[in-house]
Parts: sequence; structure tokens; C-alpha cells
Amino acid sequence: MEVIRESTNTLSRKSYRSHLQKNFEEQTCTRCVMDTSIPEIRFDEKGVCQFCHIHDILEAKYPIHNEKVRQETLEKLVDKIRQAGKGKDYDCVVGTSGGRDSTWTMYTAKQLGLRPLAVHFDNGWNSETAVTNIQNATQKLNIDLETIVADWEEFRDLQISFLKASVPDVEVPTDVAIHRVLHLIAGKENIKYVLNGHSFRTEGVAPIGWTYIDGKYINAIHKQFGNRPLKDFKNFTIPDLIYYTFYKGIKVVPILNYSEYDQEHVDKVIKQECGWEYYGGHHHESYYTKFIQSYLLPKKFNIDKRKTEFSALIRSGQKTREEALKYLESHPYEYDPELIDYTISKFEISRQEWDEWYSRPPKSFLDYPSYYPMMKMLKYPIKVACDMGVLPELLYLKYLG
Ligand SMILES: [Zn+2]
Repeated sequence: MEVIRESTNTLSRKSYRSHLQKNFEEQTCTRCVMDTSIPEIRFDEKGVCQFCHIHDILEAKYPIHNEKVRQETLEKLVDKIRQAGKGKDYDCVVGTSGGRDSTWTMYTAKQLGLRPLAVHFDNGWNSETAVTNIQNATQKLNIDLETIVADWEEFRDLQISFLKASVPDVEVPTDVAIHRVLHLIAGKENIKYVLNGHSFRTEGVAPIGWTYIDGKYINAIHKQFGNRPLKDFKNFTIPDLIYYTFYKGIKVVPILNYSEYDQEHVDKVIKQECGWEYYGGHHHESYYTKFIQSYLLPKKFNIDKRKTEFSALIRSGQKTREEALKYLESHPYEYDPELIDYTISKFEISRQEWDEWYSRPPKSFLDYPSYYPMMKMLKYPIKVACDMGVLPELLYLKYLG
């Protein structure tokens, strides 16, 4: 039996369930390494996946191959940011995690002559390397740093709620809190621009069947599985989006999309100029991320996030498809048993509790309340808002396109 595949990126409970039952023939994109382990994947007549098409749309939107055009576009943008920051201490906010992308974003901002304020959200899972990387980079680049520390008891309860809910989106509370904290600080300091450290050329586009980000969804999961009220958590819901976008006039700029992003080159530069150190895996600057990406997701949900990153590198010419396929086959995710023990003790849970949550059948965001049904209904107005640049283009491309 064939899995019921949608004609768009949207997902239904029916198609997701059918996906979980693996009622399909395995297929891998002929251009990248995205495959049928992704619930919403679909292929064109040449066997190319929709994520490759999204890449081409973004490549056309952020052209880098004509150096004159690239320079002019970037200069115009930087000028706008500088103008908006006149008379203020800073002209933009940059999130920092100690990872490659955020360190490179800070470095890029300084190179462009901007005056960023670095903001770090500490969810309690930082590795020592991450902490050192943040300190080194902000000191060497002479950037002020503001750190917001999560209320651990509350944040722990929220993270555990996601484990109990048996969904793969366990890192969404952190992603959303970072987004909110950047806006919060920008609003407080009257800064109009938030620089986003995501590059589609190296990081790709995360499938919604793997990572679904939504503030209403967070509240719903917590309401059902949490044990204490959310008071400190910095959520980002639709009223927040309206407040920060329209009332405060804050814009999120994917600054790294305007330049080439060559990982090897970037590593060399930030090691030299920012005292940066590698921590051995994409986004492994956080112990929890490492645990999730190397253990929970591949083992329980058949999600290998390296496919998204490798696919992006293939599309931007930094890796060959053969290399990536070979690597994915010969290097299974190596998880560290100590990391599991660390996670269990950090959460202050018993092995039994962990085993029980881990063995619950996999679910998805479609099993819980979220904004998704409303977004599907408002598909066309959202498209218009994305086309006009009022909402981020990926919102439509990724969730509804
Ligand atoms: Zn593809």
C-alpha cells in the first residue's frame, strides 16, 4: 500500500499515521539525501524533493553569484539597519549559543560595520565549550552580551512534558524561547532588527514532520503533561507575533543568506578571530541537543537530522551526494551511554520513568492542539503576507507550500 502523500507540504493525521506504519516504498531524492523517512516528502517527475525546490526559490531570492548585485543588496540592507539604529547604543540583536552559525553571525555583523548586542538564552544544558565560545567571541569582537537564564524547575517540567507527549519536537521550547528572548531584548532596547543566524545553504530547511514550531502547541503539550504552571517561560504566540512585528516594528533578517557560507572557511576564520572551538557535531554545543539528535530522534522516530544538513551542503556544492550517502551509511549516529545517564540525572527522573516515556508509541503535533488547522485555512492570506515580506517567506514555503 502506498503512503497517502499530500500534494502540498501540509500534513494530515491520516497521512502521518500512514507514514508511521511505513506503508511506502523507500525513496531518496535524486539531487539531495532527503528521503521517505520525512513524513511530508514528495518528489517531482525527476525524483527531486520539494526541499530542493525551496532551496532554488531561496537561491533566487538571495543571489550571491553576481558579486556586484550581492554587494549592492547587502549594502542597502546594512544601511537600513544602521539608519534605524542612529542615536542608539546598538543597531541589531544577535542570538548566540556558542555554535558555529551564531558565532559567524556575530563576526559577520561586526565586519559589516554593525553594532550588535549579543543575547544568549541559557536553558541549563550548555556544554563547557559553548560557554567558553560565547565568552571568547563576545570579548574578542567587543560585543556586549546579555544572558537570560531559564527558570530550571519550570523549563525542566516543560521539556519533560514533550517527552511524555511522545513527539519528536522536544527542542521546540528552546527554539521558541530564543526567538522570544531576542524580540524581548530588541523591544526593551528599542532595536528594530534581529539578525538570524540560519543559512539555508548550510542548514537547509527542517521538515515540519520532524520539527514543528508553534507557541500554541507548546501550551497545549504543557497543559496536558506539565506539573507546574508556566510563569517564567518565554513563549511566542500569534499575539506576540502581532505585537513585535506591527506594534514594535521589529524585523528578523536572515543575514547569512546574503553571502556565501563555506563551512571550512567559516571554521578557520572563527577559530582564529573569535577563539571558537568545535564540539563534534551539528548543534552539539548543547548537551540536550546532542542527546536528542544522536539518540532520541534516530532511535525512536527514525529521524536523522544529518540528512537536512548534508542535503543543504550538497545543494550549495560543499559536499557530493555520494559522499553524503556513504557517510550516512557507514557512520551511524554514535550515542554515548553516559549522555543518557547524564540526561536522566539532570532531569532528576528514574530510569523506569524514562523507559516508560521512551516506549510510548510515537506521536506528532497533529495529535495535539496547535495553530496548524488555522494556518491551513488561512493559507492564501499567509502566502500574500509572506510574498510581501510581512511574514518570513519560510512560513509559507515550509508549512503550507
Ligand atoms: Zn532533494
